Amino acid sequence: MDDTPETLADLDAAQWSKISERVTDYATRVLTGLPERPTLPTIASAAPEPLPRSGIGAIEGLARFDARYASAMTGSAGPRYLGFVTGGTTPAALVGDWLTGVFDQNAGPGGAGTAAAAVEREAVAWLRQLLDLGDDHSGAFVSGATMSNLVGLAIGREWLADRVGVTLSDDGAHALGPVRVLSGSPHSSIHKALSILGMGRSALRHVATLPRREAVDVDALAIALRETAGGTTPPIVVANAGTVNTGDSDDLAAIAALKRDHDFWLHVDGAFGAFAALAPDTAKLVTGLDAADSVCVDLHKWLNVPYDSAIQFTRRPDLQRRVFRNDAAYLRDAGGEPDFAHLTPETSRRLRALAAWFTLTAYGADGHRVVVERGLAGARELHARLVADRRVRTLAPPRLNIVCFTLADDPTSARLTAWIDAVNEGGTTFVTPTELHGVPAARAAFSNWRTTVDDASRAGEAILAALDTIAPNDA
Ligand SMILES: *Cc1c(COP(=O)(O)O)cnc(C)c1O
Repeated sequence: MDDTPETLADLDAAQWSKISERVTDYATRVLTGLPERPTLPTIASAAPEPLPRSGIGAIEGLARFDARYASAMTGSAGPRYLGFVTGGTTPAALVGDWLTGVFDQNAGPGGAGTAAAAVEREAVAWLRQLLDLGDDHSGAFVSGATMSNLVGLAIGREWLADRVGVTLSDDGAHALGPVRVLSGSPHSSIHKALSILGMGRSALRHVATLPRREAVDVDALAIALRETAGGTTPPIVVANAGTVNTGDSDDLAAIAALKRDHDFWLHVDGAFGAFAALAPDTAKLVTGLDAADSVCVDLHKWLNVPYDSAIQFTRRPDLQRRVFRNDAAYLRDAGGEPDFAHLTPETSRRLRALAAWFTLTAYGADGHRVVVERGLAGARELHARLVADRRVRTLAPPRLNIVCFTLADDPTSARLTAWIDAVNEGGTTFVTPTELHGVPAARAAFSNWRTTVDDASRAGEAILAALDTIAPNDA
């Protein structure tokens, strides 16, 4: 006789259907209410409570979560949340994400005998096609673009070491000495990755950008490459496809062409800009992406899968394996392609590829092209609304999915902050502050699959209406 006391988890396990019914009803209410959910909650989140001793079961837990935290969640997955670069979740992506937890597979060690790696390899191949990359790029899922940039730079550094005859993954960073990283408008995660990798934030050298642009001046980059040619190792170039302030992109083909005369590793941060490839209007912005040695693409932005998903592509999985291999007798490659446990920072990994697999299966390349085109249309609509008002100055044309704007008169940071706070407190839309070429500004990014031109227009109205609430300038 089994005399272990029955736990609440045992009781819950016996009522899956009741639990899932409750959660499904609850989720349906949240999801259908998303378009009108305030982009900024007016309620503060609950004060912390002590660890529950005996627990209350999943259904009561849901009620507790709802009472304590749910109304303090933002509408960031909704259609008018334009802060940062924020994607939503397509219905199929959410199914994939739920089933990731349901099946709870370990997508790291191939020896685990699961089909998880097959799902991931298929999703990688589909994304490679979707983004118009060639077969020489292999890919692996990581948790976000920061991690994807980190992995790309780690492979790049191993390549530099290879060039000078050092095995950095064995001998350590000091064996290589200082590394130079050249970039026009690098995302902050590049600095973070350099810090984590021990290359140091000061390894980064900013190269001049084109006048009033965030795109790198390729001539200036060529000069910088010549100047670093005397160094002990070749440099890493971080090119950008889609900058967070204005959605600007470097001329990737021209940068790749510099390889004819210069030796460097080319990493492209295409966190959201890589999706330009999907739409005929913008595909030319990423011509040359395929020539990169490593590519970062976020998936929880413009692919609209839930958070915790990005992909890292590289032409050198051999060097990637050298950096990330995990030597343990129980972790031998299952044969064929290396297991993902040897390609990414994690060893045990969630099957995060499943959400991407589901959304690509459900909506295909065409469905996702429409998502990108909606983002482009949203940015054009908002830009048109803002330029029509003499109190506003836009700081770049809507080249992609981002609108960057400021006050026409006296754009001090105090006035910008007051304006942005008034916009965000209104709850209809949400934008984030920035600074462009020394000018305090605001930016709005479109990457949610649900966003219509009407949403963009409503966001524009809210942004302009908030202007009335800030103090006039002294002039
Ligand atoms: C968002 C973003 C990142 C960082 O992505 P996370 O998913 O937040 O880690 C890196 N580069 C660019 C260009 C981005 O837009």
